[in-house]
Amino acid sequence: MSAKPLIALGALALLGAKAASAPERPGASKDILTACGTRDGWSDPAPPAKIHGRTWYVGTCGITVVLIETGAGLVLIDTATEEAAPHVLANIKALGFDPKQIKWLVMTHEHFDHVGGMALIQQATGAQLAVSPGAAKAMRTGQADPDDPQAALLANYPMKPVRVDRVLRSGASLIIGGTRFTMHANPTHSPGSASWTWQSCEAGKCLTVAYADSVNTISSDDYHFTKHPERVEAARDGLRTIEALPCDLLLTPHPGGSDLLERLSGKMPLTTPRACIAYAAAGSDRLEKRLARERAGQ
Ligand SMILES: [Zn+2]
Repeated sequence: MSAKPLIALGALALLGAKAASAPERPGASKDILTACGTRDGWSDPAPPAKIHGRTWYVGTCGITVVLIETGAGLVLIDTATEEAAPHVLANIKALGFDPKQIKWLVMTHEHFDHVGGMALIQQATGAQLAVSPGAAKAMRTGQADPDDPQAALLANYPMKPVRVDRVLRSGASLIIGGTRFTMHANPTHSPGSASWTWQSCEAGKCLTVAYADSVNTISSDDYHFTKHPERVEAARDGLRTIEALPCDLLLTPHPGGSDLLERLSGKMPLTTPRACIAYAAAGSDRLEKRLARERAGQ
């Protein structure tokens, strides 16, 4: 007598769980690491792969591009190179999505390897673009920010100008279909560097994804950080921002920056405690070593 209501309750609970979980996407690769093999070029095609819940990897073997399904349209973070943009669109289709469902485009930083395809993808999707204050001018003009330590190098790689629809202050959010995407300006790698956080839920468990921008303070050959104390301060400030991010699952603009392809292929744990803290600390260590080398005249 008592068994029947219990079974009914159990069935209901199962139905509930099924409704809440993301549908399977047969186009997603279970082993993107093997699919890329030794290829790690910025435009080397990779298959799409699931990250967590309704968050997907649609980038290349060398550049991360992230797609999030919100229930009220898609959000795309970064586009990879101009050359790779058609491939990113193909990956989105391979997952069963129409790129025209993309409502918002956002980005980590204003360099051609990460957003060189923005003009093409904006044109193909009609989506709006939201950027950090430091990235707005470079995106509107396609020209490198003169304050960027890599400006002399980037001058050789202009991007197609894009329409910037919204400039977000640091800490502001875009809310799409109940998912809150928060932008954290962290001008470590470039003046417009930004990280993004949002919540992803799967099988009743929710975690905060932190797509943290590059922590590399690299430059053109003739640039000396020691001659730009304001840039060093901005870089350190950005590292403190990354260190403090809510960060259950770390994503990085270059997958190699956080063994991302290994983690998506199940060769390493998808999440590790203190991932953003360790990531920021590694960047800080490299910056301080670079400053020491410059001071030593090397
Ligand atoms: Zn860069």
